Amino acid sequence: MARHVVDVVVVGGGGMGSAAAWRLAGRGADVVLLERFEPGHVRGASHGASRIFRVSYGDPVYIRLAREAHDLWRELESESGAALLTITGSVNHGRTPDLDVLSGAVEAAGVPGQWLAAEEAAERWPGLRYDGKVFFHPASGRLHADHAVTALQRRAAALGADVRHRTPVLAIAVRGDDAVDVVTEDDVYRAKRVVVAAGAWTEKLLGALVPLPPLRVTQEQPAHFAPLRDSDEWPSFVHHLDQQTLAATGFLSGVYGLATPGEGVKVGFHGTGPVVDPDDRDFTAEPHQLRVLRDYARRWLPGVDPWACTPISCTYTTTPTSDFVLDRVGPVIVAAGFSGHGFKFVPAVGRVLADLALTGERPDARFALAGR
Ligand SMILES: Cc1cc2nc3c(=O)[nH]c(=O)nc-3n(C[C@H](O)[C@H](O)[C@H](O)COP(=O)(O)OP(=O)(O)OC[C@H]3O[C@@H](n4cnc5c(N)ncnc54)[C@H](O)[C@@H]3O)c2cc1C
Repeated sequence: MARHVVDVVVVGGGGMGSAAAWRLAGRGADVVLLERFEPGHVRGASHGASRIFRVSYGDPVYIRLAREAHDLWRELESESGAALLTITGSVNHGRTPDLDVLSGAVEAAGVPGQWLAAEEAAERWPGLRYDGKVFFHPASGRLHADHAVTALQRRAAALGADVRHRTPVLAIAVRGDDAVDVVTEDDVYRAKRVVVAAGAWTEKLLGALVPLPPLRVTQEQPAHFAPLRDSDEWPSFVHHLDQQTLAATGFLSGVYGLATPGEGVKVGFHGTGPVVDPDDRDFTAEPHQLRVLRDYARRWLPGVDPWACTPISCTYTTTPTSDFVLDRVGPVIVAAGFSGHGFKFVPAVGRVLADLALTGERPDARFALAGR
């Protein structure tokens, strides 16, 4: 076994771990990033060509984090030369009080947003059918997930980080307040801090070390639908559905979606997939859910062919409140529970993790480990 001494080990080369390595290396820390699979793997939560970016949250804590992330995405673009964030505008529609909470928080934060009549929205984006009130926020859009992870890892390496793929971490042993050993097949890394951003594998790696909240790992299955007209513009969209409507229609949850250039219109239910062991997945779309998703497309997406769709498989790791866990216990920093809405925040989470590792500064109490 080779032994190495570094400042920080980052476990997990998905969006969160890669962003932590970028921010840590940028602040001069001696960092090693260990990812168990190959570059671009599709077994976690950060793969694919599209994720919704939006600043429009009903909660000022997330609005602040999204605004910081917006600026850091632009910083990463200028550092790496990669185009990652495309502003398309985004619409939320539906008949639930969520929309008023959302518009109120957006307005209070001074983020641009406006109500549109359904006819106005339909004229601008004819691919969607609108349900009740439509809230439009122009500063939202689409992120290219694969390109973002690649850019983060390339920048981290350019700034001095040692980025290693196909290197599973087998064990983490705390040796003191400022000392932790991270063990792989061939190496032991002694570090002052370890950042664990292991996604669906967090419980397996850290369950015995830190007081994690329950983390529900599900296999989610949105799908890309073929657009009927290439000329249609598509915003990112969220359709809020109340319980009555869900009961009446059989839809499984509210629906999110966005256009993925070259692949179609991505549409998905949120957090409705089967609970899985991340090491024992079938990556196969569950037929009933796919049928219901097609039914949703047939009724609410006149701009797509409900029969021409390609399912995607991806994991959510969800906390009971859907709030993230960003906290430190001794030398161990935890980044977990991104609950299906974390990608837009990736570079800002990277900044939070670098702070936790280098200065000990903690983020909003919302992200704290209970019982720490
Ligand atoms: C279908 C779907 C749609 C989504 N849509 C959106 C969206 O529109 N907008 C949005 O903001 N968010 C969205 N998300 C959520 C977002 O993608 C995730 O929150 C985010 O990607 C989580 O990143 P992560 O780095 O925590 O996890 P992951 O990307 O899963 O990274 C964890 C990494 O840790 C590695 N790892 C695990 N164990 C070990 C070990 N022992 N040793 C070494 N490495 C290890 C894994 O291989 C993996 O690469 C969506 C998620 C899914 C699944």
